[in-house]
Amino acid sequence: MNVLVVGSGGREHAIIYKLSKEERVDKIYCAPGNAGISKLAEIVDIKDSNIEKLLEFAKSKKIDLTIVGPEVPLVMGIVDKFESEGLKIFGPNKKCSLLEGSKAFSKDFMIRYSIPTARYKEFTDIDEAIKNVDIYGYPVVVKADGLAGGKGVIIANDKDEAITALENIMKYKKFGVSGDRVLIEEFLDGVETSVLTFVDGKTIIPMVSAKDHKKVFDGEKGLNTGGMGTFSPSDIYDEKLEREIKEKILNPIIEGFKRDNLNYKGVLFIGLMITNDGPKVLEFNVRFGDPEAQVVLTRLETDLVDIINSILEEKLNDIDIKWSECKTACVVLTSNGYPESYEKGKLIRIGKLDDDVLLFHSGTKFENGKLLTNGGRVIGVTAIGRTLNEAVKKVYGNVEKIHFEGMHYRKDIGKR
Ligand code: ATP
Repeated sequence: MNVLVVGSGGREHAIIYKLSKEERVDKIYCAPGNAGISKLAEIVDIKDSNIEKLLEFAKSKKIDLTIVGPEVPLVMGIVDKFESEGLKIFGPNKKCSLLEGSKAFSKDFMIRYSIPTARYKEFTDIDEAIKNVDIYGYPVVVKADGLAGGKGVIIANDKDEAITALENIMKYKKFGVSGDRVLIEEFLDGVETSVLTFVDGKTIIPMVSAKDHKKVFDGEKGLNTGGMGTFSPSDIYDEKLEREIKEKILNPIIEGFKRDNLNYKGVLFIGLMITNDGPKVLEFNVRFGDPEAQVVLTRLETDLVDIINSILEEKLNDIDIKWSECKTACVVLTSNGYPESYEKGKLIRIGKLDDDVLLFHSGTKFENGKLLTNGGRVIGVTAIGRTLNEAVKKVYGNVEKIHFEGMHYRKDIGKR
C-alpha cells in the first residue's frame, strides 16, 4: 500500500520509521518532511496546511492511507475534506479537533462530563477579564483559546503579570484570532504526566505511558518548549493511577464522545496534572505528542497500519495491541536560543551510533549534500534499553557523538 504522512517533525519521523518496518507498506511519502525522513520516505514539497494540494497529491499517487501528524491540518478540517472525496485518512475530524483547537470547547466538554479539571472562566471582553483576574488567587493561568504553537498558556505569578498576559493576547493580538477568547484558570500544583490513547469512537485504549520534560533547562527551569525529552514508561504511572485515570477520565471521555455524537477516531493525547486530589486534565491534544511519539512508537510491536484500520472500522476492541517490555528514553537536541529566536543552517556532524539508538529528525535539511539545522528542535535521540537507567545511559552516551554549533540539550532527562 501507498501511505502519505503529513508533517515534518520527530513525531512524523517516528511514525514513518514504524511504517517502514511493516510488511504491507510498499511506499511512503511525507509532506513536507525533513532530512532524516528523506532516508525512509519520498519527500513531497507541500506544506502541512495546504489541504487542497495534499488532496490533489493523494489522488494523483493513489494513496491508500494518509496519516496526519500535527494539529494544524486537523483543526483546519483535512480529515473531513479527504473523507468527502472518498480517501482513507487517519485523524479526528474538524469538530473533534476542536478539543485541541479551542480550549473553551474542551473545558466545556470536561465540565459537562464531570472530567476532573481546573476551575476556569472564559472571556471575550478584556475589561471583564481584567475585572475578574483575581478570582482564583495567584499564581493564575491565562490561556488563549485557540492554537498558539505551545506559547498560548501563561502562568502569571501576580496581578501585573496576569494583566500583561491578557493585554498581549486580547489587545495586542500576539496569537491573532486565537486570542479573541481567553480562559482564566485555577493553577494546579502537582506532577505532570501524559497519557496517549487510541480512540475509535466507541472505545478508548491507553498506550504505554510516557513522561515528558517541557521546560528548556535542567530542573524544570526556563520557558516552556514543545518538549525537550521524554521517557517511557513514566515513573509515576502505577496500577492505582492507571485505574483512577480509567475510571475518572477515560470512561467519561468516551461516554461524552458517544452522547455528543462526536465519532472521534484517532489518537487522543491527554495532558494531566497529578494533584493531591487525584489526576486532573490540563489539556487534550488530538494527535501524538512530540517527542512522546518517539519513545512510545519504538515500543509498539503491533503493526500501526493494523491499529489504524481497526480504528477506522470501529473495531479497536478486537485488536490485541502488543508493546515491548523494553524501556525508552529520548533527548531532544535544540538550537541555541530556542524556544525564542535561534539561528538555522548550522552543520550537523554525527559519529557512529550504538545499536538500539535511533535519531528522529525535526528541524533538519540537506543542502549541497550537507546536513544542516533548520529549526528550534533539531534531532531527538532515542535509546532502547532493558531498564530505564540503561536507556538513559545509552542516550547520553550517543548524544555526545552529535555536534552542531550552539547545540543545547537537557542533561537530566529520565534522572530523578
Ligand atoms: P498552545 O495553546 O500555545 O498550543 P498548549 O496546548 O501547549 O498551548 P497546555 O498544554 O494547555 O497548552 O499548557 C501548557 C503547559 O502549561 C502545561 O503543560 C502545564 O505545564 C501548564 N498548565 C496549563 N494549565 C495549567 C493549570 N491549570 N495549572 C498549572 N499548570 C498549567
